[in-house]
Amino acid sequence: MRASYRPSAAFRKRGAISRLSDLIWPPRSLLSEQIVDRPGVIEPALWGALQFLGDPQCSRCGFPLPSDPGAFGICGACAGRKPAYDTARAALAYDDNARKLVLDLKHGGRRDGLPVFARWMGAAAREALARADLIAPTPMHWTRLATRSFNQAAWLAQALAQASGKPWKPGALARVKRRKSQAGLSASERRRNVGGAIKARGRYAGKTILVVDDVFTTGATLEACARALRKAGAAEVHAVTLARVVRPTDITL
Ligand SMILES: [Zn+2]
Repeated sequence: MRASYRPSAAFRKRGAISRLSDLIWPPRSLLSEQIVDRPGVIEPALWGALQFLGDPQCSRCGFPLPSDPGAFGICGACAGRKPAYDTARAALAYDDNARKLVLDLKHGGRRDGLPVFARWMGAAAREALARADLIAPTPMHWTRLATRSFNQAAWLAQALAQASGKPWKPGALARVKRRKSQAGLSASERRRNVGGAIKARGRYAGKTILVVDDVFTTGATLEACARALRKAGAAEVHAVTLARVVRPTDITL
């Protein structure tokens, strides 16, 4: 007679606790109050509610382009001024639905979406991720960390590291000056505000680094990270975010 599979006592206990907690706090959709069968998913009715970004896009900053520009197509902004990072990619356009995902993570500390966010970001920045020696989150100043108790960029970076098997270093970058809030500032004001505020910790000679953040707004923070990592020897700096602002009217962080 074939022995039937029996999970270990510890596993059975975990399963029982998980079933119990599901009864008390059933998993909810990432986008609504709908109860779903497991944490970190979206109900089928809202699968089309997120705008995933992809080709055709600017080969540098990932801005969506109206028609296929070929391998070297770049947007007007990048043609006018080359960004400090090599490439930036984002999984989602920052609309009301992406905003809910970001705010639940950032202000609600909601973590159940992290594995799926990591898959989306990994797909958006597939080439950069394959080249990366190290994943690093954008830093938060310690005073802000003290009041918030977590850095959502570090959660995203850790999830991407777990999903891809790449190493990550939470302290690779540090904010040495507490900046004013970026909300309501123009691109050049944001670059000035964040300029010199970020430093690399450690040496990264010849390394390719993938920097992770929640939202690409003007790219000023990611450019400051790229400049700091290049000063510390990095050969390439790429960036990936969960979402990016595609139209200026979407900037309401
Ligand atoms: Zn561009």
